[in-house]
Amino acid sequence: MSTYRHPIHDFQYKAGELCCEGVKVSSIVKKVGTPVYIYSHKTLVEHFQKIREAFKSVSPIICFAMKANSNLAVLKTLVHEGAGFDIVSGGELKKALLVKADMKKVAYASVGKTDEEIMAAIRAEILIFNVESKPELKNIERIAAKMKRTVQVALRINPDVQAPTHDKISTGSLKKKFGIDLKTARGIFLDRRSYNHLRINGVHIHIGSQITESAPFLVAIKKALAFVDALERDGVKIEYFDIGGGMGIVYKDEAPQTAEAYARKVLPLLKGRKFRLIMEPGRFIAGNAGVFVTKKLYTKDNGVKKFMIVDAGMNDLVRPSMYGAYHEIVPVKKSKAKVIVCDVVGPICESADVFAHDRKVADVKDGEFLVLLSAGAYGYVMASNYNVRGRSAEVIVKGDQWAVVQQRETFKDLIAGASIPEFLK
Ligand SMILES: *Cc1c(COP(=O)(O)O)cnc(C)c1O
Repeated sequence: MSTYRHPIHDFQYKAGELCCEGVKVSSIVKKVGTPVYIYSHKTLVEHFQKIREAFKSVSPIICFAMKANSNLAVLKTLVHEGAGFDIVSGGELKKALLVKADMKKVAYASVGKTDEEIMAAIRAEILIFNVESKPELKNIERIAAKMKRTVQVALRINPDVQAPTHDKISTGSLKKKFGIDLKTARGIFLDRRSYNHLRINGVHIHIGSQITESAPFLVAIKKALAFVDALERDGVKIEYFDIGGGMGIVYKDEAPQTAEAYARKVLPLLKGRKFRLIMEPGRFIAGNAGVFVTKKLYTKDNGVKKFMIVDAGMNDLVRPSMYGAYHEIVPVKKSKAKVIVCDVVGPICESADVFAHDRKVADVKDGEFLVLLSAGAYGYVMASNYNVRGRSAEVIVKGDQWAVVQQRETFKDLIAGASIPEFLK
């Protein structure tokens, strides 16, 4: 069995049973079935507070990146802590409104915002649009003019740095679609007065995700600050400086920088500056606040390899297939079962439907449960209905209380809106 050395304090074995805070995972599974995501309220709060505390001398606006986990109970938990949101779609805007987020703490990024999404965000009076191109800027100006409103804009600049992370979650180089190159961005700032309905007063960067060292962040932040300095010399006032998200977490044996260490490096760079700092952590807050529980169906052995087949698939948790991501796998009940080396796979008809390759796992009895750790970010939110599978349930635990906060999708949910036209009947 993989040894349980994972630093998620609110998921611990008690008397041989994995618990989330004060609740046995097995008792949740008994009522809700599998697969199921389980979130710890306490971990969510503590991870949010770690960032708030580390940076408190500049009291940043902390916008939780909703794309990491948009479960309403998770969002509400963070709203109670004073979080704002980094949103990337009209749907996420509606979720922010639904949980009564402070709209003055909402930043909206995305390389492609539709007219409807822009109008909705203007109507909701969000704090700021993080704009990723000149055509987008012109469109927001046109819409704001039509609505007779003035909106705040930060330009997402592309600092052209390589972040040492998976290519699919690296965003800060000019080979990627994100942000505006520095020269174009500078031109826009100098020409800002020609946009009558925009206050172009912010600079935004986000160089990627699951970055465990501070060096790439510092390179990007320094580049962005030099950019700000040059603008200020030309009389452009910057009121918001948004350093994005991207802080890495422990999945396996990473040693990511702590919030405190990050703050120790970043804060000195911001000394004496008048702008308000915005941060957009996603994974850091939610990643280790959630686990994903699946049932072992059976093991098969083809003479070359063993496969442990579970009832969850890549449609439920795509990170291993999409990013080659590692998730620790442990049994729900501490097990004396012999350890085997196998691929842990789902039932989906794709060779990529693998949660772990050649992993040592306890060969628990068929029908028993396994837990994939660190599944609170980019888990449920990326689930799909591939192979006509309903998405799993989600549960939140707070102390010894727990609740289903997203029902398991039924077949009826899956075919809602589908129809066969008369001419095919
Ligand atoms: C994804 C994203 C984030 C959050 O990234 P994490 O690695 O989860 O912290 C923040 N800002 C923007 C613009 C993003 O696209």
